[in-house]
Amino acid sequence: MTQDAQQQAPQQEVDVVVVGAGFAGLHALHELRGRGLSVRVLEAGHGVGGTWYWNRYPGARCDVESTDYQFSFSEDLVREWRWSERYPRQEELLRYLDHVADRFDLRRDISLGRRVVSAVLEEEDVTWTVATEQGERWRARWLIMATGCLSVPRLPLVPGLEDFRGDWYHTASWPADGVDFTGERVAVVGTGSSGIQSIPLIAEQAAGLLVLQRTANYSVPAFNHELGEEELERLQQDFAARREFTRSSALGLAAPADPRSALAVSEEERRTQYETRWRMGGLPMIGAFADLMVDRAANETAAAFFHDKIRAKVDDPETAEKLLPRGYPWGAKRVCVDSGYYETFNRSDVTLIDLNEQPLRGITPRGVLVGETEHEVDAIVFATGFDAMTGALMAIDIRGRDGRSLRQAWSAGPKTYLGLAVAGFPGLFTVTGPGSPSVLSNMVVSIEQHVEWIADAISWSRERGTEVFEATQEAQEAWVEHVNAVADSTLFTEANSWYLGANVPGKPRVFMPYAGGVGAYRQKCDEVAAAGYEGFRAVPAPGAERRRADRSAPVVA
Ligand SMILES: Cc1cc2nc3c(=O)[nH]c(=O)nc-3n(C[C@H](O)[C@H](O)[C@H](O)COP(=O)(O)OP(=O)(O)OC[C@H]3O[C@@H](n4cnc5c(N)ncnc54)[C@H](O)[C@@H]3O)c2cc1C
Repeated sequence: MTQDAQQQAPQQEVDVVVVGAGFAGLHALHELRGRGLSVRVLEAGHGVGGTWYWNRYPGARCDVESTDYQFSFSEDLVREWRWSERYPRQEELLRYLDHVADRFDLRRDISLGRRVVSAVLEEEDVTWTVATEQGERWRARWLIMATGCLSVPRLPLVPGLEDFRGDWYHTASWPADGVDFTGERVAVVGTGSSGIQSIPLIAEQAAGLLVLQRTANYSVPAFNHELGEEELERLQQDFAARREFTRSSALGLAAPADPRSALAVSEEERRTQYETRWRMGGLPMIGAFADLMVDRAANETAAAFFHDKIRAKVDDPETAEKLLPRGYPWGAKRVCVDSGYYETFNRSDVTLIDLNEQPLRGITPRGVLVGETEHEVDAIVFATGFDAMTGALMAIDIRGRDGRSLRQAWSAGPKTYLGLAVAGFPGLFTVTGPGSPSVLSNMVVSIEQHVEWIADAISWSRERGTEVFEATQEAQEAWVEHVNAVADSTLFTEANSWYLGANVPGKPRVFMPYAGGVGAYRQKCDEVAAAGYEGFRAVPAPGAERRRADRSAPVVA
């Protein structure tokens, strides 16, 4: 739809427009509606669920335990929903979010199949006009971007894909009715989290699998299992205390982080600790010692432990060497969680190609061209990740004060106050935005904290009749400085990771999430609120006086 046509489209009005119907959008709708606000959720997908609607690739599951990766806002919901596995599959997570939408009667305020293309501020009365590709316009004082940190899939710039005669897929926009690779030769490009989850299952089905690896990643086994009645009962009973703990933890996880330095214990003790954490399965490994992400020597002990594990799992020493992550600190790229990833390379029908030795030069009609060799395949799977954290926001033409766009404001990298608000964009909030713990945490815990904080801020503002609610430039600058200082004190900045935007050519290299921890961050947000939203300007809209005068003026016939 053209811009002119969009401007002429009929306009509807609500208190709040929320963009996105994943965990964040659904929770925002429920919370704000409960406070008496009218809300419209606009979602590009044809179903709710966000991440779990789009990512239907084989092996897709969360790597935070089900009991921690669920909403806590309703005790009844927690009691009613019976998770079947420690790490549930995509299908179950989507079923859960569909259930939430039905259980709380959310669907009547959600418009599916609506892609937001622009959001423009009218400064006089400080309202946003939000336009969709489908030709609707919504006006609202408050605009909540629940667009997701990992919702814009990224394809590598490899020439020739349009000429490929087989089928190709991206893990993050997988066909809803699945893909059958039986009897096919398949290439998987990418060995991040989605690649690591899908490769073992694709290998089981395909006639042959070629894995194209640019960067080897660290992965911990999930030790996933079904949850029996007794375990489920115990988890449900512990839920409230467990969630309370995650809220003040570093990562939003239930496993306590060990406060010791990896270098302060004997080698034997260190090994025992790593083994214990490894056997716990999944992300608790990250909290094995307190200094793994701040001290290079401590970090190297974790890297060495992982290297030993990989060598022990992979039969062919040459393949094992290729699978060893090198050249960046352990944990500085997202640690993955797998079920049988390394063991997959012991199959005779699976081949690993290290793209550092021979680059992926292009796609041919019959397959992939790696170095000088054409490998014929029937299908290609791109597990090449996302334009993380800013991708979905930058895809929308968001215009704040003086018509300045968010793209301009963030041309040198994202700048926010608390990852929640942007100076010059009054009334706009970002859920798990850059500058908040977001992707460095259990995101459901972080989403809940943000949604509740935003809802409180809106309620506070409405009670005072302060229609402008805007981060100040000074508060934003101070926060950005703090976020950068914290990042610089860690090893995170030493990897070419998507946390830094390094996977997207031309994207500014800025470490985007806040590395100071979920608990410390929450405390800061609470302090800001308790101090009357310190760092925000909250005043009546410039046109408010005039509108009030207009309303009270006598009507002259
Ligand atoms: C495969 C995978 C596994 C993951 N596993 C975990 C995990 O184990 N633990 C964890 O904490 N996190 C995990 N994550 C991160 C995950 O994204 C979050 O946990 C959570 O689901 C985010 O919810 P959200 O609502 O913020 O965003 P999303 O679920 O991404 O939802 C955002 C929605 O906004 C919509 N949208 C975006 N732009 C527009 C637009 N312009 N107009 C209209 N709609 C728009 C999208 O279509 C999408 O539906 C995983 C992510 C992926 C991709």
